[in-house]
Amino acid sequence: MVEVRLGKHVGFCWGVQRVLDIVNGLLDDGEQVHVFGDLVHNTSVIEELKVKGVAFHKEDELWNAEKLEGVVVVRAHGMSPEERHYLEEISDRLVDGTCPIVSRLFKTGEAIEKEGYQICVYGNPRHPEMRAFKGYVKSAVFYPEVGDAKKVAVLAQTTADFSKFKEYAASLINTGRAEVRVINTICAETIMREMEVRKMAQECDLVIVVGGKMSSNTRKLFEIAKDHVRTLWIENEEEIKGETIQGKIGIVSGTSTPIEVVRRIVDYIERGG
Ligand code: SF4
Repeated sequence: MVEVRLGKHVGFCWGVQRVLDIVNGLLDDGEQVHVFGDLVHNTSVIEELKVKGVAFHKEDELWNAEKLEGVVVVRAHGMSPEERHYLEEISDRLVDGTCPIVSRLFKTGEAIEKEGYQICVYGNPRHPEMRAFKGYVKSAVFYPEVGDAKKVAVLAQTTADFSKFKEYAASLINTGRAEVRVINTICAETIMREMEVRKMAQECDLVIVVGGKMSSNTRKLFEIAKDHVRTLWIENEEEIKGETIQGKIGIVSGTSTPIEVVRRIVDYIERGG
């Protein structure tokens, strides 16, 4: 007996859908599109775009790239100002696919640094979004560092775990500084998915998290669920073949997972494999 509970917030988030629409629009206009790094963290989406003609370049090849015919699209995670400037110089034009919520984080960090605050970020400094952020806020320090400035501002990677962000902010407040300014820069979409998976993990017998293995927001959903219940992290229905699927099954997805992939998994489970 199987009962499937599908999350309300599944499939692409608004920011991922936006950058994909930008790329597909350019392809429809006959443009040659170049992207540095994964446009979004999902293998099937990237493969589909390669077939349509998008040229993907490795991130670490950016500074060696020479004249590019066509348009470079900045991915949803954004890029540092230096990288953007360089790509503008060597391509026909640059089109900004940075999610506006990510751009807002960059602008907020820049503005507050100018006001004299030490910026402390709850995020992974190796993640593309945070590497881009460091291009805007060069003096930023990252969790678990707390810096020694008297005035600090605490920000977060847009896909960070909300509870852990609050703990980090509290740890800074507890250091007795003159001023600690806390600005929640986590994307509401990821907070809603986090709340949803936490509830499912408490009410279901199994939680299936669908999304790319490089996706930080998908990893976060998996980490939250696995502390409470048996949890599988898969990219497609092929990966659940052979697994025991029984009882109440909660299904959620990362923000760069196509809804069609989620539907195929639901269908596969409801048909009994
Ligand atoms: S998760 Fe939020 S911040 Fe990230 S791309 Fe989607 S809408 Fe933008």
